[in-house]
Amino acid sequence: MTPIPFVFQNSKSGKKETFLPKDNSNVTIYSCGPTVYNFAHIGNIRSFLFVDVLRRALLLGGYKLNQSMNITDIDDKIINESIKQKVSIEEFTKPWTEAFFKDLESLHVQKLEHYPKATESIEDMVGLVEKLKTNGLVYEKDGNLYFSIQKFSRYGELSKIDVSGMKSGARYDADEYTKDDVRDFVLWKNQKTEQEKCWHTRIGTGRPGWHLECSAMIRKVYGSGVDIHTGGIDLLFPHHENEAAQSMGAYPNEEFVGTWLHCEHLLVDGEKMSKSKGNFYTLRDILEKGYDPNSIRYHLISSHYRSKLNFSLNKLEESKVAMDRIQNTIYRVLEAGQLWDKVPKGVEMGNFTIPELQNLDLDFIYSLADDLNVPKALATVFELVRIVNQYLDTKGNEAEDSFLLESIQLFYKINELFAVFQFKKQIQSLVGISEDWILEQIEKRKTAKQNKDFLSADKIRKELEEKGILLADTKEGITTWKKAQ
Ligand code: AMP
Ligand code: ZN
Repeated sequence: MTPIPFVFQNSKSGKKETFLPKDNSNVTIYSCGPTVYNFAHIGNIRSFLFVDVLRRALLLGGYKLNQSMNITDIDDKIINESIKQKVSIEEFTKPWTEAFFKDLESLHVQKLEHYPKATESIEDMVGLVEKLKTNGLVYEKDGNLYFSIQKFSRYGELSKIDVSGMKSGARYDADEYTKDDVRDFVLWKNQKTEQEKCWHTRIGTGRPGWHLECSAMIRKVYGSGVDIHTGGIDLLFPHHENEAAQSMGAYPNEEFVGTWLHCEHLLVDGEKMSKSKGNFYTLRDILEKGYDPNSIRYHLISSHYRSKLNFSLNKLEESKVAMDRIQNTIYRVLEAGQLWDKVPKGVEMGNFTIPELQNLDLDFIYSLADDLNVPKALATVFELVRIVNQYLDTKGNEAEDSFLLESIQLFYKINELFAVFQFKKQIQSLVGISEDWILEQIEKRKTAKQNKDFLSADKIRKELEEKGILLADTKEGITTWKKAQ
């Protein structure tokens, strides 16, 4: 299929632009990933789901992708915590990295092609600093290496930050700073205490500054720049500005990033959800309140990525009601056409013979192609729900097979983006509960039993019972489930 044209709001130009990747069959995308020192909060998760929406939309649009997300496993917080806990940074970050992947899996986020880690990319970072040194953009002070932004005329182009008031030689050493106050930033920090993790390299004994890793990893994975670079809006300045300065400073004749996309924040009571403010929920916090991963996914992706999303449990409930409405219609069609488990996936755009469905299919994909306008795409889905319900109400048993088949094919296609709807018979009456969620609860119960936490294990069994799901343990230690009669 020839890819359909997408339009993106490029942070670089501040405008909507037609997306022109270098190669449609190898679109390169890099996304700033998690700092693995804690559970991700659902604000972070919103930004990771945005990457999944971008991926699934481009795949639906006919592109082939080569995507990366980095794992930040070196930074001030990680180093301080690992020293406090007297463990290596590898030991400290391993469970958090695993928790991150588990969260993504439970939210049906597709696996990307690459997950480079900072600790595995030190040589690439050293090479980049050497290149910057050769290009005259680095100076040393107290054993640290800094990027001299006054020597780089394009500094500020991305974030439109004003560099004119910058004091010469003013520096930032910390990994994080958010002020709109422009200073030289650290590329390489020398070792300050004996316990601090360090690397012995050609540019000194120490560790990289936070911004360096993304520039180095993009180079490492792709050999040059990328078509799309994403991150949360808080990363625009300073992180992405500094990344751009490093990469363009080292390789001035190459394009670093074609399109920059930034996802807006998840808010709580009007404020950014963040660990430092303490106003955050992790995915676990919400699952423990009885919500399932599908409704969380649906809720977090159904608003536009460039709109702020004010999170509340009430709004989550509202989304669940909307999601169940779509699901119920899917069940109605499956039942009317006896299409359970029979429908092939991956219907190509334009293959619908029923004009109404064909138009909805086009509206759906073109809404996504319009800067990932999921709310507009959802309006199409609800129009489909309305049309299908009306059809079934009018036709009763006379519903035509072709209509039922094509409408369920369209729902399948829509689910390539949403990844929350069910098409299997066994759980048709368990509206809003996915089989994956049930299996996850069974897994949790198994872990609780292994840890001799029988109270939690019983609680999980009871909770499932209340939802009409019965568990049975076999002698071999396998747990099966069925619907209560
Ligand atoms: P971190 O693990 O802190 O490095 O952040 C991972 C990603 O989450 C980055 O892209 C951040 O910009 C993003 N992020 C952090 N807080 C929020 C929030 N409240 N809403 C949306 N994205 C966020
Ligand atoms: Zn980054």
